[in-house]
Amino acid sequence: MLENSALCYDLHSHSIASDGVLTPAELVARASKCGVDVLALTDHDGLSGVPEAQLAAEKYGIKLVSGVEISVTWSSYLLHIVGLCVDHTNQVLLEGLKKIRETRTDRAHEMARRLEVYGIPDVLEGVMKHASGEAISRSHFAYFLIEKGYAKDQKQVFKNFLVSGKPGYVATEWATLEETINWIRGAGGIAVIAHPARYKMSATKFRKLLAEFKLLGGASIEVLSSSHSFDESIKMSAYAQKFDLYASQGSDFHRPNTPCVELGRLPKMPVGCTPVWESPEWRV
Ligand code: AMP
Ligand code: MN
Ligand code: MN
Ligand code: MN
Repeated sequence: MLENSALCYDLHSHSIASDGVLTPAELVARASKCGVDVLALTDHDGLSGVPEAQLAAEKYGIKLVSGVEISVTWSSYLLHIVGLCVDHTNQVLLEGLKKIRETRTDRAHEMARRLEVYGIPDVLEGVMKHASGEAISRSHFAYFLIEKGYAKDQKQVFKNFLVSGKPGYVATEWATLEETINWIRGAGGIAVIAHPARYKMSATKFRKLLAEFKLLGGASIEVLSSSHSFDESIKMSAYAQKFDLYASQGSDFHRPNTPCVELGRLPKMPVGCTPVWESPEWRV
């Protein structure tokens, strides 16, 4: 039996149930091949991929953590809050997520309308060829716009079309931080701030977020993420210790052949952090 710390944990990943390109079973197969021992499936605003991933995890002999990544509006910022170890049949959580997905669908219609006004034809039909229909994401718009030659890659397509001030951007009100944490905890889960270094926030604002998150019952932040630089991971490790938050880690894998992003491919957790799998709420 391996020591827990010797296991490879990847606690943030996506399937076609949101904006990933692999089915939940394909994702688990890839994770197993990459040496992952414990994988969390954390699709945006939905849990529909969990049963298939669980079955596949049994087949490949790895542990599957039932998870979700919830879209939150906090103080005008778009935040992503990951829920780990949630009961994927919890009705209150499922109802909350359903509402967010409806908001996603409404936003997609408005994004398509605006892009058509801008001069791009047949947007919604084209986007839906890339989406399973569960949670329509800006990523699906990105896949479509790249396919049609409007941009060369993911970075450029977001910069030119899909962020504030650009033709396909639609400002959206997501769930509140409070209801999100309550949904996650009500479903027996652990609330984690995803890729915290990605939010363009002042240090004062970020400390306010951590204090409020903690007060509302949030338990963890991602110290290690593919979108963090080495320095950012060290900084987040210090914040985790200062605010007494558990440290999580995840690749945020969406699709193969993304530079520097692979299932299980993360640096070592900085010394001094307590990993989230040592939380008393941790259940796999
Ligand atoms: P949405 O949740 O539909 O607004 O889409 C956000 C998703 O798009 C994220 O989960 C990422 O997968 C992707 N994404 C967001 N911003 C960027 C960016 N600047 N470059 C590339 N992908 C991004
Ligand atoms: Mn995504
Ligand atoms: Mn995210
Ligand atoms: Mn993600």
